[in-house]
Amino acid sequence: IDFRKAEFLISAPDIAHLNEYLPGDVGVEIAFAGRSNAGKSSALNLLTEQKIARTSKTPGRTQLINVFRLDKHRRLVDLPGYGFAQVPLALKLKWQESLGEYLLKRDCLSGVVVLMDIRHPLKDLDMQMIEWAVESHIPVLALLTKADKLGQSARMKMVNEVRKKLSHFEDGVKVEPFSSLKGIGKGKVLGILDSWCKP
Ligand code: GDP
Repeated sequence: IDFRKAEFLISAPDIAHLNEYLPGDVGVEIAFAGRSNAGKSSALNLLTEQKIARTSKTPGRTQLINVFRLDKHRRLVDLPGYGFAQVPLALKLKWQESLGEYLLKRDCLSGVVVLMDIRHPLKDLDMQMIEWAVESHIPVLALLTKADKLGQSARMKMVNEVRKKLSHFEDGVKVEPFSSLKGIGKGKVLGILDSWCKP
């Protein structure tokens, strides 16, 4: 799959609308999830070699599910960032429920990338996303972003720690370091996404 061919398809305000626009059992979707500010937009931009996702400095403004078309059957889905502090609790809970619904019920979902800042990975909500995906038998790539912020040995130490903490999921969850700034992990990630795109 050529991820550079990604083009914007639709935005949906919530899962119900997404299901209406795009029936959940059609085609193949790879979803990107992460705490707000984890580096999700930067990662999508690097992987597609386009400014496809906005990198916004105002987390939690409009929370939309953005869908990008890769080809006739395959799509990338940019899920709303979670965990930002400045949003009312009721709205946060609504979005968490919505993410759960997507991860647990979307039939065409073929893989989930969970992006976490390498300096503070595996927060409660990150674990929740991973657990929902695993529960649905969907492969997970835990991407430790901003890996350029750590030196080589601290980076590998963190990668190994996270691998250990997720080892009970066995092959269902992969862990890789990543940097949109330096291109670390790009080839590896593209290979994994490509393997998920196979019918
Ligand atoms: P999002 O909210 O998850 O979409 O995160 P963004 O992609 O908007 O990034 C949040 C902040 O982290 C921005 O200030 C980015 O410049 C910074 N950032 C993202 N990726 C990297 C990276 O690989 N390395 C470094 N050093 N900073 C990054």
